Amino acid sequence: MSSFQVSKPVLAGKELEYVTQAIESGWISSNGEFIRRFEAIVSEYLGIDGGMAVCNGTAALHLACMGMNLEPCQEVIVPALTYVASANAVTYCGATPVFADVDSRTWNISARTIEDAWTDKTVGVMAVHLYGLPAPMPEIVDLCRDRGAWVIEDCAESFGAAIDGRLTGTFGHAASFSFYGNKIISTGEGGMVFVRDAEARSHVLKLRGQGMADRRYWHDVVGYNYRMTNVAAAIGLGQMEQAAMHLAERQRIATVYREALREAESQQLVSLPATPRGFDNCHWLFSLVLECAPDSSDDAYAFRQELMDRLECNHGIETRPFFVAMHKLPMYAGLQPHPLPKAEKLSSRGLNLPTYTGLAEEDIHAIAGALLTELNKLIG
Ligand SMILES: *Cc1c(COP(=O)(O)O)cnc(C)c1O
Repeated sequence: MSSFQVSKPVLAGKELEYVTQAIESGWISSNGEFIRRFEAIVSEYLGIDGGMAVCNGTAALHLACMGMNLEPCQEVIVPALTYVASANAVTYCGATPVFADVDSRTWNISARTIEDAWTDKTVGVMAVHLYGLPAPMPEIVDLCRDRGAWVIEDCAESFGAAIDGRLTGTFGHAASFSFYGNKIISTGEGGMVFVRDAEARSHVLKLRGQGMADRRYWHDVVGYNYRMTNVAAAIGLGQMEQAAMHLAERQRIATVYREALREAESQQLVSLPATPRGFDNCHWLFSLVLECAPDSSDDAYAFRQELMDRLECNHGIETRPFFVAMHKLPMYAGLQPHPLPKAEKLSSRGLNLPTYTGLAEEDIHAIAGALLTELNKLIG
């Protein structure tokens, strides 16, 4: 096993105490006080009402799409560079994800790349805040307003990130969060969905719980069992009480990585996360792009793999590659009418580094040092 994992949950608050209380109370399924308290603390943190806890972030995205009444024959613009769940949520509704290229500096979609992907079937945009940097929401919201489309924010990687002090998740018509074990706040498996429109929100609430109306066992729509357990919510409450600490830790870690990699960046060996003015990156995973990788995507992919293998074998450092671009996956290949060169380029060159609460400063320097040593040997 690696000495340094890319990510690990740190349960340093009252998680165990709350889980014990949940078990002792006998409420271990999806009723119980911790669900309500967890929903309340996340909603309060974001400053938006009505967060609905669900069993994972993918279910949150699916519910958000259903809250927008997404239907077959409709299209949703999704970034080409994201985790597969963003696209799958659209597909679950029978609709079609259409992939937009990303900006080579921010790694996110922008109003420009969205416009390039727009068709007369486009009804909405799935904005993803990749690796913790917010997508440019003001311009995306403006574009969608002008065109009568909705916006869902996939905030799975951006808990606590903001633009001009406004948190991600508060810009769109709906927002989803993930509390998977490697996310900033974790419940083991879990998620939360926010829907701005009150009527759509109660529809989503009903779909979360098997589509049951006011009368017991009377179901007037095909619903889902997407509920979170009280035990998971108990972990989440303990995590949320320490949200500020977990977020501050990521800022600290990113600052040290930047310092350690500044010279490599100025030599154009790597590029580090962009810092658009007013954007607060929450640095879910501190990431970089190997600018010194070979030109062709296949060669760059092999170069990065070799680097990752050497980091693991020679230094016990686990790293992760950027996501595979969506239009390269078998089920989405062939959907794409135009090329997506930037997403492809980033996908073959991007790397996530260990990022978790408690990662020591000297360890960050050691990781950055090992990266530069192996990189220089490879290009040497
Ligand atoms: C983690 C993640 C999800 C899905 O969350 P799960 O809780 O694993 O279902 C969705 N979108 C993005 C961008 C993610 O990183």
